[in-house]
Amino acid sequence: MSTSSNWTPISRTNSECGLALAKALILIACLLVGVLLGITTEVVVNRHKSASQSQGLKTEKPVAKKSSAHNAKSVPPQPLNFDVNQAISHVTYLAQTIGLREEGTSDENRAAEYIQQRLAEFGYKPIVQLIPITTTQRTSRNVIAKLDGRTSPQQTIVVGAHMDSKGGPGANDNATGCAVLLELARVLKNNNRQIPTIEFVFFGGEEIAQGGGSNDHHWGSRYFVNALTPVERAGIAGMISVDMIGTGPEFRARNMGLAPKTLVDFMLELGGTSGMSYLRDSSSVGNSDHEPFEKAGFTSVWLEYRDFPQYHTPGDTVSTVDFSHVQTVGRLLQDFFEQYLSPDRMNLLPSRQ
Ligand SMILES: [Zn+2]
Repeated sequence: MSTSSNWTPISRTNSECGLALAKALILIACLLVGVLLGITTEVVVNRHKSASQSQGLKTEKPVAKKSSAHNAKSVPPQPLNFDVNQAISHVTYLAQTIGLREEGTSDENRAAEYIQQRLAEFGYKPIVQLIPITTTQRTSRNVIAKLDGRTSPQQTIVVGAHMDSKGGPGANDNATGCAVLLELARVLKNNNRQIPTIEFVFFGGEEIAQGGGSNDHHWGSRYFVNALTPVERAGIAGMISVDMIGTGPEFRARNMGLAPKTLVDFMLELGGTSGMSYLRDSSSVGNSDHEPFEKAGFTSVWLEYRDFPQYHTPGDTVSTVDFSHVQTVGRLLQDFFEQYLSPDRMNLLPSRQ
């Protein structure tokens, strides 16, 4: 109680003093806050004004241009997906505009030039290997484009498709394979998410040349393998041949059984849901450009749809191609390089060093 009675007057006195002091403090605080707010607001307003003035004083168009230019720099490019319409245009040009592309002829060379032009448009610097065809004394060529890897740049996967055709316009055999490689090269160059280094190799002279014997084929791929330096040879982790992937009910991952089957197993694991199954070549010479790679000990796989009744006939036209197959293979390979082929899986590929 005493505390209370003592406290009251003191309290009153303090309260009076405190009230005046509080008013003064509130006034000062208000002034300070007001000043600060004013300054802050002014700064913000000025900042806003200066930003908008610097962009908007001239005309409205420069503002839009500056804004969009800024956004274009800050927003990364959208990842691309394999576009089957691009593949259709490549198959149509190779098989319909050019048509028959026998090895070492000007028409095979036209195909090589078309492919070089597309690769250059995608940002590559393709190189050309000249291939002597000894049975015809003609010269064929390989077109090679390299895409540097990210986490396993020292390891190279060769992805190959032959440009030449035999007996007809070769829409399925093998404009489809070339189209997959071209579209894959465009997409992966833009996305740049793949693990290993990739060499896209468009082979010349895969077919048996006129007058050639049963083993006179795979000129471009055999030349490529023989021309590898020891360092290049040591860097190749595997080879994928894309050949005749547009027609037929059976989706196959093939090899000759001469080298480790790792790459076949990878493809089967990834492509099993697409109905892919394994087929071992009984032939001793192979039937596509994986042959010289496999004989040199590289794990290799040939991706193919089969059977193909129009094989090596004038009936191998664009109308025979089921482009849903082409899309399946293109998307599969994009997934393979962008998602499936992790550094851990790269380490499972057999080393030849
Ligand atoms: Zn072929």
